[in-house]
Amino acid sequence: MNSIHPDKNGFYGEFGGAFIPEMLYPNIQELQEQYLGIINTTEFQQEFQSLLKDYVGRPTPLFYSKNLSAEFGAHIYLKREDLNHTGAHKINNTIGQILLAKRLHKKRIIAETGAGQHGVATATACALAGIDCTIFMGEIDIQRQMPNVERMKLLGAKVVPATSGSKTLKDATNEAIREWINNPVDTHYIIGSVVGPHPYPDLVARFQSVISQEIKQQLFEKTGDENPDYIIACIGGGSNAIGAFYHFIDNGKTKLIAVEAGGEGINSGKTAATIALGKKGIIHGSKTYLIQTEDGQIIEPHSISAGLDYPGIGPIHAYLHDTGKAIVVNITDIEAIEAAFYLSRKDGIIPALESAHALAYLKKMKFKSDDVVIVNLSGRGDKDMSTYQKFMNYEH
Ligand SMILES: *Cc1c(COP(=O)(O)O)cnc(C)c1O
Repeated sequence: MNSIHPDKNGFYGEFGGAFIPEMLYPNIQELQEQYLGIINTTEFQQEFQSLLKDYVGRPTPLFYSKNLSAEFGAHIYLKREDLNHTGAHKINNTIGQILLAKRLHKKRIIAETGAGQHGVATATACALAGIDCTIFMGEIDIQRQMPNVERMKLLGAKVVPATSGSKTLKDATNEAIREWINNPVDTHYIIGSVVGPHPYPDLVARFQSVISQEIKQQLFEKTGDENPDYIIACIGGGSNAIGAFYHFIDNGKTKLIAVEAGGEGINSGKTAATIALGKKGIIHGSKTYLIQTEDGQIIEPHSISAGLDYPGIGPIHAYLHDTGKAIVVNITDIEAIEAAFYLSRKDGIIPALESAHALAYLKKMKFKSDDVVIVNLSGRGDKDMSTYQKFMNYEH
């Protein structure tokens, strides 16, 4: 095994695996047995690459920011995942998974969503492929994220409220899994990050790895060296981060920095900094770090950015952290807001709040003047305008 690929049971070191109820075995087993055989065919790759290019809008630019470079005293590049169709990296994965679902002869897609970003990316891919789409979403999240609910409906998806528990993401996930158990033959479940039972973390990482594949080529064209000194990415479940790291792991040069959501501070009780505070356990079918009480109850996480508000972390990131192959740090809500305002005014790019966490870490680093630094700008900030507006009023 190398650092990127899990062993045949889906383990990265001690993390990962497939800890699932027996009733899910048929669904997961079908995927485990078939995913590599399908996605590694030339025919699959051709269709995937062609959609990434003409539908998603790839390759996304690698932008050299003169303004940030001058400010931070290094060569700073932004990987513009915010310019993807639907506004973030999530579409790379949903397009890949819809093509896989078609080849598995599935007639129907289900997915869970928290803030609605993965729901929108899934509904988009389903509309394109002409496949029936049902999105599970906590009742509270439906109220909080109405514009994305409207988008999903406009795209033809059915949005089903999860009304149990705290009526948020984990309850929506439970509903989706229940639905999948009841429809194992005709339904594919699209998970939105590098989390869940094997093979999902590996499947999603492979689809997102296009990000670092492009960075390599673009950086070589610009500098004559395909390997940067640093790559910085925010981390919720970890799909944009692993996509940006994938082709640089173990190259002996590039330092990989994953930025978690510190929320109101890691000692405030209102945080989503899983690596900083988490203990080993099992969440959504895989072994990883998660934020939990002494007796193993998951603690409700908090982050100002909905996309990072997750109590676990993808198993590959738990492994990269434990082996020292990646560095995991955290940034607070306020630091992220400041970074978002800064980039908006300095470069004319309004980043997603999630991506602003990665940007905010620039300020905490000491660079050498010839360092080449890449910040993965995972998404755009349109969806965060109401939050930004609250802080703008504050400024005066
Ligand atoms: C969902 C989301 C994230 C967090 O998900 P990862 O799987 O950790 O990448 C980050 N940025 C944006 C813009 C998102 O929409």
